[in-house]
Amino acid sequence: MIKIGVLALQGAVREHINSLEECGVEAVAVKRKEELEDLDGLILPGGESTAIRRLIDKYDFMDALKEFARSGKPMFGTCAGLILLAKELVGYDESHIGVMDIKVERNSFGRQVDSFEADLAIKDVADCFPAVFIRAPHIVEAGENVEILSKHNDRIVAAREGQFLGCSFHPELTENHAITAYFVEMVKESKTKHLV
Ligand code: GLN
Repeated sequence: MIKIGVLALQGAVREHINSLEECGVEAVAVKRKEELEDLDGLILPGGESTAIRRLIDKYDFMDALKEFARSGKPMFGTCAGLILLAKELVGYDESHIGVMDIKVERNSFGRQVDSFEADLAIKDVADCFPAVFIRAPHIVEAGENVEILSKHNDRIVAAREGQFLGCSFHPELTENHAITAYFVEMVKESKTKHLV
């Protein structure tokens, strides 16, 4: 059975768990770093990246998260989670986990539109995905191994680099589980590869 964790320090955790369960896998809310050990994949949820980072440090999660990334297991960052994964952040000297070869700008859709919905075409996922953006970041630069999966008004809002998947929006806040299902497939493929 595939087991996927959702980092449960702050943010939209329950909704991701529901979405994973709808996709037929075991889902756990990860509150202690030891719980990362027997997972096949990990979701970093949306919320507030600075708050999540503070809690990552407080509960001594950072090395374990970097080790999880190094092990090759899939990680999916949504919104604040995308910020946590990025190697570079506009306006900041340091990244957080810093493993995905992208440069991300926080709160980049402007103050007057704190949140909005848009139907997106997402490569290999859906022709029309109802994406909910909440004080969302976007990807301003992507490395050569990064596959761009979706753009909204010329801004990159979903991308994949091997084991890493990231999006600017909150897929867990809709009834459409297509992108969660895509991540579950990534996890299944990676697990088969590791077993062979
Ligand atoms: N603006 C938030 C941040 O910078 C992200 C917003 C979200 O996750 N909905 O962390």
